[in-house]
Formats: sequence, C-alpha cells, structure tokens
Amino acid sequence: MVAVFKECLQEIDPGFTCFEKLQTLQVNLGDQCNMRCAHCHIDASPAGRKVMGRPVIDKIAEALERMPGTILDITGGCPEMNPDFRRLVESTASHFPRRIVRSNLTILTESGFEWLPEFFREQRLVVTASLPCYLEENVDRQRGKGTHARSLAALRRLNDLGYGGGLELNLVYNPGGDFVPGSQQELEEAYRKELLEKYGIRFNHLFTITNAPIGRFREYLESRGIYERYLNLLATRFNPEAARNIMCRTLISVDWKGFLYNCDFNQAIGLPITGGDGEILKIEDLESAARSGKELVLSEHCYCCTAGEGSSCTGALVA
Ligand code: SF4
Ligand code: SF4
Repeated sequence: MVAVFKECLQEIDPGFTCFEKLQTLQVNLGDQCNMRCAHCHIDASPAGRKVMGRPVIDKIAEALERMPGTILDITGGCPEMNPDFRRLVESTASHFPRRIVRSNLTILTESGFEWLPEFFREQRLVVTASLPCYLEENVDRQRGKGTHARSLAALRRLNDLGYGGGLELNLVYNPGGDFVPGSQQELEEAYRKELLEKYGIRFNHLFTITNAPIGRFREYLESRGIYERYLNLLATRFNPEAARNIMCRTLISVDWKGFLYNCDFNQAIGLPITGGDGEILKIEDLESAARSGKELVLSEHCYCCTAGEGSSCTGALVA
C-alpha cells in the first residue's frame, strides 16, 4: 500500500495541492482512433463513440476568447478524426500564440487524411507526435505491426514541410512496460542520432512520459499481477522537485461533453473538477475551475507524474 499522494505533496508544501494559474487548456476530442495501442490510457480504438460535437467545440472557442494567451493543446484519441477538428483549429487561429496537436502520426498516412500535414503548416500548429522508440520492433510491439514504417513516412512528410526546423515538431517517448523513463536528455540525444543517421529525420524536442497506471495499461498490469508493484515503484521514485511542477497546477482538461478535469488522466478515470455544491464544472465554468488556490483532485495514479524526472504532457519536469 503506497502513501496517500496528496499527503506527500502537503508535507513538502500545501500549495502544491492547489491550482496556480491557467496556462494550458487541453481539449480531448474523443476516444476514436485508427490505432489500438497496448498502453492507451483512454481505451481509444476505431470503435470509439465519444466524439466531441460542434456545440462543445464552439463553447471552447468562446471560453478561450475570454482568456487570450492560453495555450491550446488538442488531443484524443486521434483528434484529427473528429469531424470538427478543422473547425476547432480554424476558430481559434486568431487568439492563441501556441496551439498544439497531439498526433499519432499514422493518421497522416491514412486514406482521406492526406490534407493534414499542409493544414498543420498553414495553421502554424505545433505537432507533438507519439514515437515510443526509434527501434522498429519496440514501436510495432507497442502500437501494432507496420506502425514504425508509417510513423517515419509521416515524419518525413512533416520534415519536408519545415517541421523539425522552423516549425516545431516534438516526439513523445513512453516506456514499453512497467518502468520509469530514464534521462530525457540522454534519450533525446539517442533519438536524434538514430533518426538522423538512419532515416534523415529531424525533430525539435523529445518528451518522456511515464505510463499512467490506468485504462488499458492498468488492465495489462493487473492481468500479470504487477499493478501494486508498479505503483510501489512510482511511489519509491517520488521526486519532490517534480512535485513542485505537476502540470495540473497550470492545465485544465476538457472532455468530449465539455466537463472539466485537472488532467487527461483524471478525465480517463472519471475524476472531474467540482464546484462548491458538488456539481461537475463545465467549459462555461472555466474561470471558476481555474481559480488560483482551488484544490486539485489527486489520487494514487498521480505518482506517475512525480517519479524520477517527473512526467507531464510536455515531458520531464526536472530534466
Ligand atoms: S495511445 Fe494514442 S494512438 Fe494509441 S490507441 Fe491511444 S489514442 Fe490512439
Ligand atoms: S495525474 Fe493529473 S492530477 Fe495527478 S498529479 Fe498528474 S497531472 Fe496532476
């Protein structure tokens, strides 16, 4: 049994358990995906039925108009598969200095989605793309046969358009099992060398993200009887410096229905942000959810954010 995560933070500084200031709104467009990866924390697949509709998308654009300067981080599932993905991107073009699309890369090689790379460039989107390893066998084991080759084809296309140079292209590494990522800096150097020398591919930054013990990855751990062991590993590697920087102090996540959460992991396991009367806050209540000092909703899966160098949607927290 691991210690209560919230108490670990409070022992260091009670302020670490509270919201600080909104910097990023992360929008999850739903659980549809062209892939079905073993580690997926939201159980996304081609059969996904949670798809953000136009009314919620329009409310997000309206809410963000009131908060210029906020970073918009678009995720899924596979966000590009949402029929209103283009609408969300185009309707937020004038308000946000930085808009990120989290792409699984393979969608860029699917029939009917060939327009995406040029659209990313035209909209000046930052592309943050999953590539859990530079080795073919590891990528294909985690994400399905042929994924490595398709991912490289997509990366080449993005490079040809200027991504990895003047346009920002980041890669995401996550462990292929129940372990904590090593040094982000060292891994970035290895990725850069391998991808450039073997395939001529360039990127800007590598983000290491620790697997959260939820969703399909939790099922994997439980089916092997190693869930508690993994949780203990994360708790044993608790890093107070990472605790200071957990992303939920500056990020809010929106689900396909417009409900708000402290992060995408909380969204995946149904831990929403609530108001004073216990009601679940929605995108219309963004200012209230983003109030400085508001208590965060924390649980044992949160240890994935503070283990080792720490982990967030922008990689390590103390690299
Ligand atoms: S991990 Fe990403 S690419 Fe894989 S199934 Fe989940 S959402 Fe899709
Ligand atoms: S899992 Fe979410 S709520 Fe928990 S520490 Fe990480 S970012 Fe914060």
